[in-house]
Amino acid sequence: MKQNFIQKTKKQALALGLVALLATTSLTGCSSKDSTKDAAKGNAAISYKAGTYTAKATGMHDLTVTVTVTKDKITDVKIDHQETAGIGAPVAESFPNEIIETQGLGLDVVTGATLTSNAILNGTADALKQAGLSDSDIETLKAKKKDVVKEEDKELTADVVVIGAGGAGMAAAVTANQQGKKVVVIETTTKMGGNTILSGGALNAVDDGSKTAKDNKDSVAKHYEQTYEGGDKEGDTKLVHTLTDNAWSGVEWLKSLGMKFYDQPFTVTGGLWPRAHKPEEPEGTGFFKTYQEYMDKNDGITMLYETTAKSLIKDGDVVTGVECTGKTGNKITVKSNGGVVLATGGFGQNVEMRQEANEINKKWPTLDDSIKSTNTSTIKGDGIKMAEEVGADLTQMGNIQLLPLGDPETGSLSGNIEHAVESRIFVNLDGKRFVNEAGRRDDMTLGLFEQKDKTMYIVMDSDTYPNGDELNNFGEKMSDLVAAGRAIKADTLEDLAKQMGVSADNLKASVKEYNRYCKGGDKEGKTDEFGRSLFTDTDGVNNGINTAPYYAAVRVPTVHHTMGGVKINTNTEVLDANNKVIKGLYAAGEVTGGIHGTNRLGGNALTDTVVFGRIAGEKAASFTK
Ligand SMILES: Cc1cc2nc3c(=O)[nH]c(=O)nc-3n(C[C@H](O)[C@H](O)[C@H](O)COP(=O)(O)OP(=O)(O)OC[C@H]3O[C@@H](n4cnc5c(N)ncnc54)[C@H](O)[C@@H]3O)c2cc1C
Repeated sequence: MKQNFIQKTKKQALALGLVALLATTSLTGCSSKDSTKDAAKGNAAISYKAGTYTAKATGMHDLTVTVTVTKDKITDVKIDHQETAGIGAPVAESFPNEIIETQGLGLDVVTGATLTSNAILNGTADALKQAGLSDSDIETLKAKKKDVVKEEDKELTADVVVIGAGGAGMAAAVTANQQGKKVVVIETTTKMGGNTILSGGALNAVDDGSKTAKDNKDSVAKHYEQTYEGGDKEGDTKLVHTLTDNAWSGVEWLKSLGMKFYDQPFTVTGGLWPRAHKPEEPEGTGFFKTYQEYMDKNDGITMLYETTAKSLIKDGDVVTGVECTGKTGNKITVKSNGGVVLATGGFGQNVEMRQEANEINKKWPTLDDSIKSTNTSTIKGDGIKMAEEVGADLTQMGNIQLLPLGDPETGSLSGNIEHAVESRIFVNLDGKRFVNEAGRRDDMTLGLFEQKDKTMYIVMDSDTYPNGDELNNFGEKMSDLVAAGRAIKADTLEDLAKQMGVSADNLKASVKEYNRYCKGGDKEGKTDEFGRSLFTDTDGVNNGINTAPYYAAVRVPTVHHTMGGVKINTNTEVLDANNKVIKGLYAAGEVTGGIHGTNRLGGNALTDTVVFGRIAGEKAASFTK
């Protein structure tokens, strides 16, 4: 396994080299000077009907693109949108200028904001068609790329170097900075966030002995037990204890930095218990608003965006820095006086790597590219490969988590209409329940693999969306999802079944059985046929699926989390195959393995980023060669 991943890295590096060469070749034909001239005079061969045109498109939400053109030039692009702050909104702000600057539509889709990027490009194309452009003119504009002039190679030195500006990386960076250290954070994309900013924000933690914990019959011990057993006892017990014992102090740390959470914890899918804390800001944006505010108030954290870490620098037996490639292909060397923290996330978007890892346990029928992923596109296992090249051991690589909740087109969690697990059921294309919907994520998804077309519907009633325009966990309005045909709404179960294309009798029978348990359980002493025990909200408000309108949304299996990765100890020090510490190298977040075992509990990954990110920041700050 180890050898294979390294060999793949080298193969990929060669392939990348080839791409770089081709890119350089195509760029030599057109200097940046030419491109500026081009932009100033527009597109010589293309002629517009002068005027202002509008088009609608759908990103995360509906948006309107307004484009103004003269006879030979795009002069203005305006986007009227409600895209999420920190995710789609920055794209809606930057794309108009880039379209005008390049006089083209060949902009790179922004990682993590694919829907918004494509919506703006498609909307602009539609508006330009109204201005008289043909399909082939649009293709010409799509081929226009921004020219790149290679910048000088450079070298930087910091007290602590962090690779990856997701949740774990930023927790490490802020913690190291709180210890008075100068930190450089290397991030391949244009912004902080990674998978963390896309997350539902559910963060498991128990304030032991508090009224909330008592009301929910919860404790740190129970969190530990469910995490360990939920991962089939494969998690390293010391790491699991570190996770659960320090979860609440992680929440308190975030609060001390200004992050706000709703009071009541809830049960996130596969979380098994109501202990997920939800930030007030949508999705994972609250984490990065908090980290950004910290950086605005405190000097000493330098963000190197559009910089891709390629390899770790080792001096004798100590990791001392990182070799990177800048956005123009230049070499950037970042040296560390203290530790280097790997926080590059998992490998959910690396099809080859996940297929190979799946061979270890053969848990999933396939993880080829017919199965999409919830992850953002840069989550390709770079950190795992870099660590392996300096002798790190990898652990539990075969433990890969899928969710049954992917969008059929993209695999993303966008369009997932569930909130708490208690109030919804899953039915297959026959309208029948097939699994304990409040159970483990792997059981639910394995169950879904066995259903026709590996496809199911989430079904619920208006308890979750009393007005119909409330947001789901991913910041989307239910009414928008219905209007876009991504969710189904009906006044009766018969009509819902008809729109879903499933048997109405079966759907009604499934709902009736579920409702029986919601009304106090089975009076005849029979347990739920799938072993489900979570039926009502902790406040007892939900009494089943019985209040119109009813809602449904179609979902498929999707790769969500990779629990295997770099082996660490409780100090987040990276270990080799003999469990010996690789000096100077720390790792936190999804890049690591061995914490969650075979199956990560919903809500435990964000806890992982905060708990282990903080430890990594602290230990890397105190490391001396
Ligand atoms: C849609 C979605 C919803 C989720 N919801 C929840 C939830 O509600 N609760 C929960 O507990 N978990 C959730 N998870 C899981 C959780 O979000 C992730 O496991 C966690 O955020 C990973 O954090 P991380 O810091 O390890 O990695 P990430 O946040 O993914 O950050 C890694 C960063 O490293 C960068 N990077 C990668 N390679 C390089 C390189 N070579 N050079 C430089 N930079 C690089 C990436 O661009 C990225 O910014 C969700 C995941 C997804 C995808």
